[in-house]
Amino acid sequence: MGKITGFLEYPRQVETAEVPVQRVKHWREFTQQLTDEQAKIQGARCMDCGTPFCHHGCPVNNIIPDFNDLVYRQDWKHAIEVLHSTNNFPEFTGRICPAPCEAACTLNINSDAVGIKSIEHKIIDKAWEEGWVTPQPAAVRTGWKVAVVGSGPAGLAAAQQLARVGHAVTVFEKNDRVGGLLRYGIPDFKLEKSHIDRRVKQMSAEGVQFRTSVFVGAAADAARYGKVEAVTPEQLQAEFDAVIIAGGSETPRDLPVPGRELKGVHFAMDFLPQQNKVVAGDRLKHQMLATARKVVVIGGGDTGSDCVGTSNRQGAISVTQFELLPQPPAQENKPLVWPYWPLRLRTSTSHEEGCQRDWSVATKRFNDDGKGNVKSLTGVRLEWKDGKMGEVAGSEFEIAADLVLLAMGFVSPVQAVLDAFGVDKDARGNAKASTDGAASYRTSVDKVFAAGDMRRGQSLVVWAIREGRQCAHAVDEFLMGVSTLPR
Ligand SMILES: Cc1cc2nc3c(=O)[nH]c(=O)nc-3n(C[C@H](O)[C@H](O)[C@H](O)COP(=O)(O)OP(=O)(O)OC[C@H]3O[C@@H](n4cnc5c(N)ncnc54)[C@H](O)[C@@H]3O)c2cc1C
Ligand code: SF4
Repeated sequence: MGKITGFLEYPRQVETAEVPVQRVKHWREFTQQLTDEQAKIQGARCMDCGTPFCHHGCPVNNIIPDFNDLVYRQDWKHAIEVLHSTNNFPEFTGRICPAPCEAACTLNINSDAVGIKSIEHKIIDKAWEEGWVTPQPAAVRTGWKVAVVGSGPAGLAAAQQLARVGHAVTVFEKNDRVGGLLRYGIPDFKLEKSHIDRRVKQMSAEGVQFRTSVFVGAAADAARYGKVEAVTPEQLQAEFDAVIIAGGSETPRDLPVPGRELKGVHFAMDFLPQQNKVVAGDRLKHQMLATARKVVVIGGGDTGSDCVGTSNRQGAISVTQFELLPQPPAQENKPLVWPYWPLRLRTSTSHEEGCQRDWSVATKRFNDDGKGNVKSLTGVRLEWKDGKMGEVAGSEFEIAADLVLLAMGFVSPVQAVLDAFGVDKDARGNAKASTDGAASYRTSVDKVFAAGDMRRGQSLVVWAIREGRQCAHAVDEFLMGVSTLPR
């Protein structure tokens, strides 16, 4: 603990952002990271609690009090060593993690949490600037070969860990670029893609092979992903000593109401990746655009918020977001919920840029303009009575909409991929594998492990990194009998 009275002297300070009216004109990140001095002062607020709840609140168990202290002392080189000891990619989490660590910070009980995420962001960006993030190739090769299916944060973390202990790792990715939802889901204004490219370069130097535009599954299913090479699970199992399936949770929740088939009603994930491709320099023949359209986003989570930010940048006339659940309270009851993640109203930077938000609303139908295009949405207000949700009589309303984006979450991984591997599934259709015990992360099929959203269901980047790391430990132990990788 650098400064014993720091938490009494200094207020919370986090990154500032470019004003909305300016930032909606471009696709770049818009937060202004802390200066060295600001980070030092923020680090000084850490109380180095006997039980560091922040460390438990962080899914990768970042050793937060230690790096706070090192930042206070301006010992940045040791700070990045501590940070990298638990997190392969702090530049991702330092930008887009919702920061459950801060909810768990002891200062958050009766004051404001330490700006942990801003400090994390600062440490890793400084480390890259200083040239401290370099490849760490294994000293000895083991001769074992591991295939990783999927290049999202789970697959990347697993691949990097395994390569660093000497296994020959190949990552198979059906998309044309590496990164999973970091690449083709999360918009550039939240996470610029050069951060992924830099890691791919580092990992390639550590010996990881990347094979993009390769679909792993039954050859008949490959066709739906366009021009991709198909590799079957049997081929992978024959060629590799272990296989990790980390293909994410890609089946979106649908809204089967009348008019769902109309033109202009789309899944969010048909919309968002297109813009990421355009920002990356691709030319699309028919980009789905919100430009000069009245946009309605259905669903209140991260995906919905990203649709709001993307629609505003494309020049939508209006953006409205509906959520089925009631509006959460502006402030949580801290003594009741601390140190857990609280349910409270969250206003994202995309919401700040302009959006009409409405809660307790269900969609009854989409209405046709007579030519097969959506022209409006009919909704109804909901109320909770005796623990049940019901419609408020006479509350039906119509709102103009010529682009409707469905962002109601993801129900499961693509079942055809799991079926092609023949792995057992849990009740929600995820790859079944426990995270505990001797057989952790192992599926019901010999040599096949599962991690990330494909195993746990739709989640967060930080959880995917945790699963990738832990799964790598399990695979290493399976191959070597014992593992030096952290768990
Ligand atoms: C729009 C959106 C915004 C989000 N924003 C945030 C956020 O701000 N913060 C946050 O923490 N989380 C966010 N999330 C959630 C987060 O992105 C995911 O939880 C995380 O990416 C899951 O990582 P993963 O590696 O398990 O899977 P994914 O990132 O989904 O990666 C899986 C990869 O596997 C590939 N794949 C699948 N099947 C095959 C196959 N058969 N053959 C070859 N390749 C295959 C896919 O193409 C994909 O690239 C967001 C999600 C979405 C959709
Ligand atoms: S990864 Fe997320 S939870 Fe962990 S320290 Fe960083 S911001 Fe906090």
